[in-house]
Amino acid sequence: MHRFFLPQNCITQSSVVVAGKLAHRLRNVLRLGTGDRIIILDNSGWEYEVELRAMSGGKLEGAIISRAPAAGEPQTRITLYQALLKGSNFELVLQKCTEIGVTGFVPMVCERCVAGETVGNRLGRWQSIILEAAQQSRRGKLPVLHNVVQFREACESATGVSLLPWEEEKVRGIGAALEGLPKTENTPEVSIFVGPEGGFSPHEVDFARSCGIEPVSLGSRILRAETAGLVAAAVTLYEFGEMGGGSQA
Ligand code: SAH
Repeated sequence: MHRFFLPQNCITQSSVVVAGKLAHRLRNVLRLGTGDRIIILDNSGWEYEVELRAMSGGKLEGAIISRAPAAGEPQTRITLYQALLKGSNFELVLQKCTEIGVTGFVPMVCERCVAGETVGNRLGRWQSIILEAAQQSRRGKLPVLHNVVQFREACESATGVSLLPWEEEKVRGIGAALEGLPKTENTPEVSIFVGPEGGFSPHEVDFARSCGIEPVSLGSRILRAETAGLVAAAVTLYEFGEMGGGSQA
């Protein structure tokens, strides 16, 4: 069944009203009509099975058949602080990390960033990439896309256990760094910092350390900047038993 996020003010106790672009897409692109069923997500963690009923003007009305907590939302809250990347690589990170289960993205400008001047007009596109990936991967809440920040500001705003994958860190892995956080904690919070193509500068790593952000290794191979966040997020979720077979599963 197709899945769509809908603003909460379009959802009542027993029905939903779909208007605008989504109504157009349901009717004219997906060719759905009276009697067809879809899943509506309210972005607060609930999903509704809806049967389409009436159509009038540009609007579609649907009856709520059942409601259930959306199963795709991880308990672990991961914010990925990702340095801006060249070409479409930042988009790839948003798409893949939404699928994996990241709950927030903070685009960062770092010393060695070669991308970054034209971010303003890309935010809308980034938001729609997140929306599509969240619908496709059965998330119950949309990951939050924050404004672009400078690296130092990002370090100062990090919450929870904060990790910085760094290729020069040879010993400490994510599992060890997470040990301080009780795995029984219901909604653990983890911030992950990933550098640009050229990596973090030594100054940046020192500054991050001074903010309590701990360098961690992702193994002895050098991963591309667009790969590292995805791997770090997957390993973190695995550590919390949220990848189907981790230590808590
Ligand atoms: N320019 C560097 C690599 C940068 S990779 C070099 O060639 O040596 C881009 C980012 O991915 C890094 O800033 C880091 O956050 C992450 N990364 C890549 N490989 C890693 C590894 N093996 N361990 C930890 N972090 C890694």
